Amino acid sequence: MDRNPTSPWQERTTQQLVRYEAVFKLLDDIQQTESVEEIARRVSRHWKYFANVTCWRLVLPKDEGFQVIDSSRGEAQLASVVALDAWDAFHLSQQKPRLVRPAELSEPPYPPEHLAGKAITEIQVLPFVRLGQCIGLLSTAARHEPFNELDIKFIRLFGSHLTDRLSSIELRRQAMNALVDKATRDALTGLLNRGAIIERLDRQLAQAAACGEPLSVILADLDFFKAINDNHGHLAGDQVLREVSRRLQAQTLSGDSLGRYGGEEFLFILYPCSAEDAEQAAERLRRIVAENPIKIDAEPPRALGATISLGAASTRGHDRCRLEELIKRADDALYQSKAAGRNRVTVG
Ligand code: GH3
Ligand code: MG
Ligand code: MG
Repeated sequence: MDRNPTSPWQERTTQQLVRYEAVFKLLDDIQQTESVEEIARRVSRHWKYFANVTCWRLVLPKDEGFQVIDSSRGEAQLASVVALDAWDAFHLSQQKPRLVRPAELSEPPYPPEHLAGKAITEIQVLPFVRLGQCIGLLSTAARHEPFNELDIKFIRLFGSHLTDRLSSIELRRQAMNALVDKATRDALTGLLNRGAIIERLDRQLAQAAACGEPLSVILADLDFFKAINDNHGHLAGDQVLREVSRRLQAQTLSGDSLGRYGGEEFLFILYPCSAEDAEQAAERLRRIVAENPIKIDAEPPRALGATISLGAASTRGHDRCRLEELIKRADDALYQSKAAGRNRVTVG
């Protein structure tokens, strides 16, 4: 069959159109993808269709630390880091684009390992600056041939779009976390509030019964707290509550939970945890509060002795224990600790 011969000009134009199409498809893709990992994966897979580049690193400063996305040969890896390496730290502080040639790579700051190597012809470093702040830093390495003008245009367009998208996802995540925190945390102590700790207990009780593992709760109540308020003022009382919360939280093992159950009352969930272990844990909590007086920042400054009384209750095996019943048992045990003289532990 007869075919129309294509001229080199037509071929180049077609290639360019293919690359434009690839970049716009990717921009569109990114706009509709919510997960940062998925975006990073798609970018690393499709980048090669529109730019002569196989390796890149994108750094995004976050509230605390940085998010670093490394891509090499179609694979992308995402990591949260506290400190940047010398290359990223240097270029982030410069806030200026830079073209780095192989001859310059023998001097620090050295690029990340996957952007170095014999075949590298150059590295484009592009910071994305908004309102005087660097919100992203993209380093891309060309292999075998240097970047051409179109590559650079695409990298700029693409990097800026990617940075915008990733920062807006991060902002939304932060806003969502702040909302969840507000709804589940107690404003004075920062502990889980009553609703959140009860909801967690409900979930874990079902799980404990299903797995046949013991779950324990401990109720702790400050002793004679009304007298602290009456003698030293409500603000001093608040400081005592905050410091006691801090000490109790520091004793809470990861996996266990602590919440502010009421005014000066705390609820612990220990799971998995037997009655014997819960008694030991409660004794540790009692000691950590009673051991050292609490410094009060007031005029004149003073230190107040505070103690807590505790009551513990546990579930056993596969028995399905109702939440209200378990808390009632812990509350009865707490009442016994109060009646027996306070600053002590009772297991119900
Ligand atoms: P007991 O040893 O029997 O527990 O005595 P108590 O004085 O601790 O118990 P009571 O229930 O009589 O008093 C609790 C006090 O805790 C009364 C209330 O004003 C105070 N309280 C509750 N929430 C807060 C708070 O957020 N800040 C301050 N400063 N006080 C609070
Ligand atoms: Mg009390
Ligand atoms: Mg109370």
